[in-house]
Amino acid sequence: MTQTGPEILACPWPASGSDRRRAGRGLLSVVIPCHNEEEVIAATHARLAAVLPATGMDFEIVYVDDGSRDGTLRGLEAIAAHDPRAVVIELARNFGQQAAMSAGLAAARGDAIVITDADLQDPPEVIPEMVRRWREGVDVAYGRRRHRDGETAFKLVTASLFHRLFASLIPYPMPVDTGDFKLIDRAVADAVNALPEKRRYLRSLVPWAGFRHEPVWYDRHARAAGTTKYSPWKLLKLAGDALVLSSDAPVRLTWVAAAGLGAIGIVSGSMAIVAQLTAAAPRPGVSLAAVTAVVATVAAVQTAAVAIVGEYVVRAYREAQGRPTWVVRRTLGRERATTGSSRAA
Ligand code: UDP
Ligand code: MG
Repeated sequence: MTQTGPEILACPWPASGSDRRRAGRGLLSVVIPCHNEEEVIAATHARLAAVLPATGMDFEIVYVDDGSRDGTLRGLEAIAAHDPRAVVIELARNFGQQAAMSAGLAAARGDAIVITDADLQDPPEVIPEMVRRWREGVDVAYGRRRHRDGETAFKLVTASLFHRLFASLIPYPMPVDTGDFKLIDRAVADAVNALPEKRRYLRSLVPWAGFRHEPVWYDRHARAAGTTKYSPWKLLKLAGDALVLSSDAPVRLTWVAAAGLGAIGIVSGSMAIVAQLTAAAPRPGVSLAAVTAVVATVAAVQTAAVAIVGEYVVRAYREAQGRPTWVVRRTLGRERATTGSSRAA
């Protein structure tokens, strides 16, 4: 039926994203990457289902099963069978947390999207406060940790040092003492989803996009159940990946090493010449140990420089291969939208 002018006036256009945001309506998506979380997943869903109505928004919970080998997928299937607000994306294998979060972000339909872990370390009760900040006009309401329970002293110290080093090295403002727990506006999600890069570190891609960021302070709890999926080695790899993906500092560091070694060479060479010229009798040669030390140091720095360049070359090669960041095996709760999809960018 064709509408006439007065009818159009009587029938308002659908509210835009920003109208819905001011009115506090619209859809809230919660994205949860899950890898071997069978002990906790039912409790996580129950807590979210109890808390999210307090936001006053409709909501969907997008679980991404990242190649779990335990009963996580069965647990998620049971959740999806009973709750139409749950969407389950089963990845074809374990692609890693960054890929799982990216898959969830791409599938989320919300006007605002919360990313959180499956283990209840980030209390769902903070989400209504994040939504409140979003309504006030904040585009990224990120959880900033006041306390962190259940972590070793080693992890607390290394994480704190790494966050500060990382923030000082990347060329845009980067919040510290924060993880993946955050709410982002649709426009931020669209900007991040549109990035063509395959290997993704979302903690720096969201700040890269810009927009208005504000912290929401909270206390991070210990895991509700299960164990961490990150060994110290896996954490170290993630930290290295994050640095190389987000910053040119490692390559620049090789210039600093080259300049330092060059300065040592010039100073010690000059000293040797002066000593020979001013000595009454010719001096004996340097010891083998001293020569070995110098050669080994120079070789180590040169090898490190080549290795750093190699890290960038490998990443450039991977991007050129253009393989998708993740592959979906099956989607529950929203068959038509995502069946057979993989990251198309
Ligand atoms: N995770 C994932 N894929 C992985 C490893 C972890 O999806 O390969 C998920 C995991 O299920 C959890 C979140 O990422 O929801 C954070 O993992 P974890 O709690 O083990 O990390 P921690 O909090 O100990 O740093
Ligand atoms: Mg955790």
